[in-house]
Amino acid sequence: MSELKILLSEKEMPTHWYNIQADMPELPDTPLNPVTKEPLGPQDLAAIFPMELIKQEVSQERWIEIPDEVRDIYRIWRPSPLIRARRLEKALDTPARIYYKYEGVSPAGSHKLNTAVPQAYYNKAAGIKRLSTETGAGQWGIALSQACNFFDLECTVYMVKVSFNQKPYRKSLMEIFGSNVIASPSNLTESGRKILAEFPDSNGSLGIAISEAVEDAAKRDDTNYALGSVLNHVCLHQSIIGLEAKAQMEKAGFYPDVVIGCSGGGSNFAGIAFPFINDKIANKSKTRLVAVEPISCPTLTRGEYSYDYGDVVGLAPIMKMNTLGASFMPPGIHAGGLRYHGVSPLVSKLLQDGLIDAISLGQTSVFQGAILFARAEGLIPAPESSHAVQAAINEALEAKEAGEARTILFNMSGHGLLDLPSYDLYLSGKLEDFPLPEEDLKKALERLPHV
Ligand SMILES: *Cc1c(COP(=O)(O)O)cnc(C)c1O
Repeated sequence: MSELKILLSEKEMPTHWYNIQADMPELPDTPLNPVTKEPLGPQDLAAIFPMELIKQEVSQERWIEIPDEVRDIYRIWRPSPLIRARRLEKALDTPARIYYKYEGVSPAGSHKLNTAVPQAYYNKAAGIKRLSTETGAGQWGIALSQACNFFDLECTVYMVKVSFNQKPYRKSLMEIFGSNVIASPSNLTESGRKILAEFPDSNGSLGIAISEAVEDAAKRDDTNYALGSVLNHVCLHQSIIGLEAKAQMEKAGFYPDVVIGCSGGGSNFAGIAFPFINDKIANKSKTRLVAVEPISCPTLTRGEYSYDYGDVVGLAPIMKMNTLGASFMPPGIHAGGLRYHGVSPLVSKLLQDGLIDAISLGQTSVFQGAILFARAEGLIPAPESSHAVQAAINEALEAKEAGEARTILFNMSGHGLLDLPSYDLYLSGKLEDFPLPEEDLKKALERLPHV
């Protein structure tokens, strides 16, 4: 019988991140300056990012060395375990082998610390004193707060107002690590004031909070901005998930037939999938790579592949990506980390080129899968990760139907111990599905920039 937990030693932790840009058949179109709409140059980004991250953003080098200072902090929780979900397999009575890579062991409780640490490190090395960022549900804010604390940087987090009010304990976590947490939209920035003038009761959105954080960073020399997903350098940092998982699957003696990750901005999916896409591009494997998103925010499955703003006010670069339109206001579904209007340009391009697949699921089926998983394996998945859990369950049931010993690998991007109110709603039958109405989608897409 094969092992239940496949571990790597600290010595086996990857020394380099994997950069998919070295192997893509075609690269995404260049991002544009939001004001001039001309191709974005390094100098456009220098006001808010350190040069090392800008270089990574456009690098086509296949392997990029992980600095020792970053590896030292990664060692706190990395390499993360790969676990065979044997009890889930049994509960489903499936011949499929189900493996999950567990990123909830990080001190932040999710994969987001994998990029927060190098982002804080490169900013510190560039002489920056303070970082500004946004957070939706709070996971990214917590991760960046921890990373800034490790590197002795100040951190200001613009937190979407609805979460700020509904999830006060996430704010406490950020404050424990020394961050200044502000409800967004706020009256501290021009962007915030502009939104409040138009919508005084605005509950905020990620797109608005990004505008505030970018403005904050652009205005101050000692401050840079940090983004927790979407960008190429974030996907690069997350590749450590897939690199470890690949080595662990090799130890287990199986190559996955399908690799699954949930997708908001696309970075944890990129993290688990990109190192496997490498083999696919080289024609060595037929493995399917599946990104799973909510039906209420169906960026990959129903969005348009188009140039769009990264934020609501139009301060962030215009990127070619799958988008629902920067003015899109997502419904209050319970996977707060999957509510961004756009998605990584790299992930979008790979979808266009047929190298990955995307599906969407409703939140009631997602929570049903999460409970089934929790009861079988004893671990509570984050609502975001539960999209991957339910997709893996569906794969395992298909394999059963077909009588196939399919090998399934999915990324458990975080634990759900901070999401118990959402579980309560599900258990009391109060959770509903919110498929995005066609007219809402049309309306938001009408406001795409003309380029
Ligand atoms: C933020 C978050 C996600 C979604 O973000 P991606 O950039 O798509 O990875 C998924 N899972 C968890 C636990 C998160 O906190």
